[in-house]
Amino acid sequence: MSARAMIGDYHVHTQLCGHAEGEPAAYVERAIALGMTEMGIADHLPMFVHWEPSLTMAMEQLDGYVTAVRALAARYPEIRILLGVEADYFEETEERVGEVLAHHDFDYVIGSVHFLGDGFGFDQSRNMQAIVARGVDAIYRESYRLVARAAGTGLFDVVGHLDLPKKFGHRPTDAAAIELYARGALATIAAAGMAVEINTAGWRKPVGEAYPAAALLASAAALGIPLTFGSDAHAPEEVGADFDRAVELARAAGYAATLRLSDRGSVALP
Ligand code: ZN
Ligand code: FE
Ligand code: FE
Ligand code: ZN
Repeated sequence: MSARAMIGDYHVHTQLCGHAEGEPAAYVERAIALGMTEMGIADHLPMFVHWEPSLTMAMEQLDGYVTAVRALAARYPEIRILLGVEADYFEETEERVGEVLAHHDFDYVIGSVHFLGDGFGFDQSRNMQAIVARGVDAIYRESYRLVARAAGTGLFDVVGHLDLPKKFGHRPTDAAAIELYARGALATIAAAGMAVEINTAGWRKPVGEAYPAAALLASAAALGIPLTFGSDAHAPEEVGADFDRAVELARAAGYAATLRLSDRGSVALP
């Protein structure tokens, strides 16, 4: 059995978010075909600031999402399907997000930073030039500050794509200083008992490497931070993408096990 056949993909979107394709069932069937025994759907939670229809489902769709994922789980007993969600972090909506998360029985929550405090979406291709104008180092610093803040809230279980500012290949000028910021965020993540994910979507982006980078992953391993695997699939064929490579990356970083989210159990890497 290949590595990806054994590790659950916990970062899978659906067409509800407005920028993914394929029926939710198609994602599940792909996971089953790969031999996964567990997976999680984690579509984008509605945002309460800076929202646009192409970013996340609308608030009035959330109940339907929850119902649809639970229905999928009932329809495909051959795989355990968890109800997850990927929540954006904004300082001013912490309370609102906390209320919405508490209102539904999500199995886990991925906390992600895609926006700076003023709503600048640094992972959107339309902003690729503006990133340079704003300053790449400043974006990295601010994103790690927000990741640490997010970890401190206790609202989230897994940190999504830790070093997302690298998506388009932008590298900090002062790499050593930025790495210190990242390590600070990791210390907060460890203290909060959160996990990080290896997100394989980075291999499909201009940067051409998974999130987080090998050095950050090694820091996470050294801190004892649990690890999950996610493809960030926005199309059914992306489920489980590059999980074999991801397992190699995890091993090289010092990981021997992955976190199974259904029971928070530790499972040896294949
Ligand atoms: Zn998305
Ligand atoms: Fe994301
Ligand atoms: Fe995602
Ligand atoms: Zn994501």
